[in-house]
Amino acid sequence: MMAAVPSQIITILTIYLVFSAIKFVQCSHGDRHPVYQRCLQSCFYANCSTKTDLQEFDAGRPWYLRALLWDCEDECGYECMWNTVEYYHSIPLPCPQFHGKWPFLRIFGIQEVASVVFSICHGALHLYFWLKFRSKVPSEAPMYIVWQAYSLICINAWVWSTVFHTRDFIWTERMDYFCATSLVLASLLTHCIRVVGWHGGTFHVGITCLCIGVLSTLFFIHVWYLAFIKFDYGYNMKVNVAIGAVNTVWIVLWGIQNIRNQPYVWKAIVTVLGTSLLLLLELGDFAPVGWIFDAHSIWHGATVPLVCFWYSYIMDDTLYMYELMFKFKKTV
Ligand SMILES: [Zn+2]
Repeated sequence: MMAAVPSQIITILTIYLVFSAIKFVQCSHGDRHPVYQRCLQSCFYANCSTKTDLQEFDAGRPWYLRALLWDCEDECGYECMWNTVEYYHSIPLPCPQFHGKWPFLRIFGIQEVASVVFSICHGALHLYFWLKFRSKVPSEAPMYIVWQAYSLICINAWVWSTVFHTRDFIWTERMDYFCATSLVLASLLTHCIRVVGWHGGTFHVGITCLCIGVLSTLFFIHVWYLAFIKFDYGYNMKVNVAIGAVNTVWIVLWGIQNIRNQPYVWKAIVTVLGTSLLLLLELGDFAPVGWIFDAHSIWHGATVPLVCFWYSYIMDDTLYMYELMFKFKKTV
């Protein structure tokens, strides 16, 4: 009996430390509710507090839960989340959020299935059009390398979006946010190089390097601030929206100016205006439909077709610039 006392103290201390740590992360209604807290404590005490418990917990659970790093505490959190949602519905009260997120139905260990599927669709489309661009556009065409790099930045961003929506950890969230910013800035940079760097059938090396230097520096300062000074969700959102807004207004105005000579620019205008309008979907903060489709996943899904318009514009514009390059060479 005496030997059991230290282990009980250790267990109680562990539970106390776990729940003290939980208090430091972002809280919303559900995870602060006593029903959730009590459920979490009893689940942790019953399943995760000793080595034997953990061995029993690990035995016989599907490989994909282990592969996706669902540990005993995570499992307790998931079970207790649904217990609390049931409790709220029985009262009835509106569905609560947990740690700043709506409850999602986990499928094969994947937390946000709809966002994962749509992120894969985006990534696959960028990969498909990257290959199509390479087969359709001559490698000596202007902007050829720029658009290649742009596609790779987009593919990387959607890979991280897939990873983050599969499993939400601090590091996967950071990577998703940083890579999303890289994508938004890459869009602005490509247009900057296209419009400011390109002049008289060739690129002005100094101006092109200045565009790349300024926007790359902005990106690294932004990431450095978020990673090492303060991770501020509001500030990050404002920066991304501001860059997106500048890009949208610039492309629309440039497109209107040039649509007579380059009729294909309507595709670019549709893409940026469509992306901006669909961003309004993000404002709809509602509990996931069928516990799968939330506003964010619908925004990811709704923007998938715009990728086709965008790449169609990219290919048309690069081929147009390629022709223009020859015309300038002939006249010189
Ligand atoms: Zn996302």
